[in-house]
Amino acid sequence: MAPDDKSDLDVKVVRIFKCGICNENESKYKCPVCLVRYCSVACYKTHKAGDSCKKPEPVVEVKPAAVVYEYETEDTVNPEKLQTLGYDFDVRRDLENPHLRQLLTELNSSTNPDQFIKENMNEPIFSDFVLHCLSVINEEKDE
Ligand SMILES: [Zn+2]
Ligand SMILES: [Zn+2]
Repeated sequence: MAPDDKSDLDVKVVRIFKCGICNENESKYKCPVCLVRYCSVACYKTHKAGDSCKKPEPVVEVKPAAVVYEYETEDTVNPEKLQTLGYDFDVRRDLENPHLRQLLTELNSSTNPDQFIKENMNEPIFSDFVLHCLSVINEEKDE
């Protein structure tokens, strides 16, 4: 009888994951936070003492900004209301005015929006726009 060649292949492949901290011992555990493998409490403590233990970043879907433009009044206007502003006919028409847009850009970067609005209320296009916005916002206030 010839020796069975197949026996040579009968080697169990055991995947041994080494400890990710000491790189020597077989790892038995996984860090619940970063999933690194470790062999012992001692290695775990070493791991925790370092700054390598970080939760894998969850993939966060970034939604595109729904707000058409930014606008600040003395009240904080919530984004839904800002969105309805964007659909208002009068507001849209106002926004076609380059001068108004310039004013709004300045308002956005202003450190004191309240003051800025007061100072510019004598600009007809600006005061019209503010009134249009306020009427839209107040219409929405049903509570
Ligand atoms: Zn170890
Ligand atoms: Zn960890």
